[in-house]
Amino acid sequence: MLYGSGRGFMSSTCLGIQNLSVHYGDLQALWDISLSIPTGRIVSIIGANGAGKSTLLKAIAGALPPTSGEIVHDGRTINGFKPYQTLSRGIAMVPEGRRIFPRLTVEENLQVGAYLPRTRKNARQVMEKVYHLFPVLRARARQMGTNLSGGEQQMLAIGRALMSEPTVILFDEISLGLAPRIIKDIYVSLLEINQTGVTMVIVEQDVQRSLKTAEYAYVMQEGRIALEGRPGELTEEAVRKAYFGV
Ligand code: ATP
Repeated sequence: MLYGSGRGFMSSTCLGIQNLSVHYGDLQALWDISLSIPTGRIVSIIGANGAGKSTLLKAIAGALPPTSGEIVHDGRTINGFKPYQTLSRGIAMVPEGRRIFPRLTVEENLQVGAYLPRTRKNARQVMEKVYHLFPVLRARARQMGTNLSGGEQQMLAIGRALMSEPTVILFDEISLGLAPRIIKDIYVSLLEINQTGVTMVIVEQDVQRSLKTAEYAYVMQEGRIALEGRPGELTEEAVRKAYFGV
């Protein structure tokens, strides 16, 4: 099984999640989540505010410990790994709100992304690739990262993730607060990145954009997977029901 929540991961499964639960203290944010992300594909996770999308990405990235269940990356269980350990394995995250380092220039922000020993030696070459993908970052290389527009900061956040030479990128709410034209440009870049073989998990509230880009989608509601399928198979009504829980 390539996609879906079924058991038994194939060798082409990049990320396999089985019965994952995550708590914040007494509050259970994820309930028995099972999903699978095939290598090299784009999968989207959609859902309303508070559905648990960010929590899921944080658990995969090692920023939150699962209470139960299993997260498997390329055949190895990574439960309890710390963020630097998941990053070492090639799992990068583009966080919600971009989190650009305010006292660093654009170029320094990019350099931070290459802090792992594995990536430091290639940093210049990889930075060239990032500048090729987002020429505006080269033009603004010496400016402070936070002086960029929202869209440019999003490009910087994506560029910083690319500096770690990831094989998987987890994108959290990349289109939030951006103009439609900028969102379109960013999504064109995402497809270019995906064509280099990078697996992508895209968390979005913009359902239409998400379903247009992804090959498979999961709809989350109140910490659970409410619906899943290929975008062509998901009717608008079913998505609306799963999204809003009505
Ligand atoms: P959003 O788009 O608003 O970020 P989301 O789908 O990403 O929504 P999460 O941020 O994962 O949802 O939140 C899932 C649940 O966990 C919500 O009920 C939220 O209030 C709760 N939650 C999130 N972060 C924390 C935290 N640090 N401490 C306590 N509860 C939290």
